[in-house]
Amino acid sequence: MFTPAELLEINTLLTPESKIVILTHYNPDGDAIGSSLGLKHYLAAKGIFAEVIVPNDFPKFLKWMPDAKKVIIAEYKRKLASDLVNGADVIFCLDFNSPSRIGILGDWLVKAQGKKILIDHHQQPEKFDFVYSDTVIPATSQMIYHFIEAMDDEKLVNNDIAECLYTGIMTDTGGFRFRSTSATTHRIIANLIEHGADPAMITSSTWDTNTVSRLHLLALVLGRIEVVNEGKAAVLSLTRNELKEFGFQKGDTEGFVNYGLSIAGVKMAAFFMEDLYDNFIKISFRSKDDVDVNQFSRKYFSGGGHINAAGGKSNDSLAGTIETFKNRLNEENF
Ligand code: 5GP
Ligand code: MN
Repeated sequence: MFTPAELLEINTLLTPESKIVILTHYNPDGDAIGSSLGLKHYLAAKGIFAEVIVPNDFPKFLKWMPDAKKVIIAEYKRKLASDLVNGADVIFCLDFNSPSRIGILGDWLVKAQGKKILIDHHQQPEKFDFVYSDTVIPATSQMIYHFIEAMDDEKLVNNDIAECLYTGIMTDTGGFRFRSTSATTHRIIANLIEHGADPAMITSSTWDTNTVSRLHLLALVLGRIEVVNEGKAAVLSLTRNELKEFGFQKGDTEGFVNYGLSIAGVKMAAFFMEDLYDNFIKISFRSKDDVDVNQFSRKYFSGGGHINAAGGKSNDSLAGTIETFKNRLNEENF
C-alpha cells in the first residue's frame, strides 16, 4: 500500500476541481475494465469526476458494467484522449507496469505533467510518482478495494463499485481458482456481495455470453492441441484465415489457453494467434506452480506479466514461432 504520507498527498490531489484520468492496458480485460470503472465509481462517490481511457476496444462481454459505454477508446477518439491525458492533474495507471503496455497512450503518458499514480500487480513495475505494486495480489481490482480501505472509505462502496471490482477479481482469478486467490480475496468478495454485487448476474453477464464464432474457434483449437516435452507443455494455435473464416470478434479467444493447462501433467500452455491485421503473433502463456512464464516470455518473446500468466509476441511466422518456442523449452531443459 502507499505510505500514510503518500495517502495524505494523494488525498489532497483528489478534489472535485482536479482533472483526473484513469488509464489501463492494451486489449483491456475484465480486471483492467473492472478496476478502472471501480475506481471511477469510488471517486464519483466522493463527488470527484474521472474519465476512464483505454488504448483500444474491449470485448462485448465486459460492456454490461456500469459506465462501460462511457469509457473513452483512444483508437476511436484520439484527439479527445490525448487532450485529456495532456491536461490531467492526476493520472491513475491501473493494471499495467510500463507505458509500453498501453499502446498509443504510452507516449502521451510519458510526456504528461500530471501526477502519475500506479496501482498494479504485474512483475517489475517501472517508475511512477506514486507506486502501489503487489505481485501477490490476484487482481488490480482487489488493490482498488485495499486503496478504498486505506482511504478509510469502505462506507462509500456502492452497487456500481461492488459490481466492477467483483468482475475484475472474478476474471483475473479465473473464477476464484488461481494460486494467488486468498482468504483476503474471499473476504473482500463477501463485502462486495454485501454491498450489492450479485454473483449470478455478474457471472452470467460476463461468461454466459459466448458467441457462436467463439465456440467454433474453440472446437478448432481443441481439435489440434499438441502436447510436447513428455506431456509437460501444451501448444494451441489459430491462423488469421481461421479467425476470418469463423467471424472472429474481439474477446472470442479469451481463456482458450487455459484448456491447454487443464490437461493432467501439463505445467505450461502456450496459445499462438496470428493478429487479424498486422504481421505478428500474439502469444498467451499460462503455467502451474513455480514455472515462471513471466521470465520466459520476457527472455524470449518480448513480453511479461505474472509468474503463472503472461503474454508476448513474435514477428516470425506462426510455424516459425511455435518451432522457436519448442526449441526454447528444450534449451531451458523444460
Ligand atoms: P493474456 O495472455 O491474457 O493476454 O495476458 C496474461 C497476462 O500477461 C496479463 O496480466 C497481461 O497484462 C500480461 N501481458 C499480456 N501480453 C503482454 C505483453 O506483450 N507484455 C507484457 N509485459 N505483459 C503482457
Ligand atoms: Mn490484472
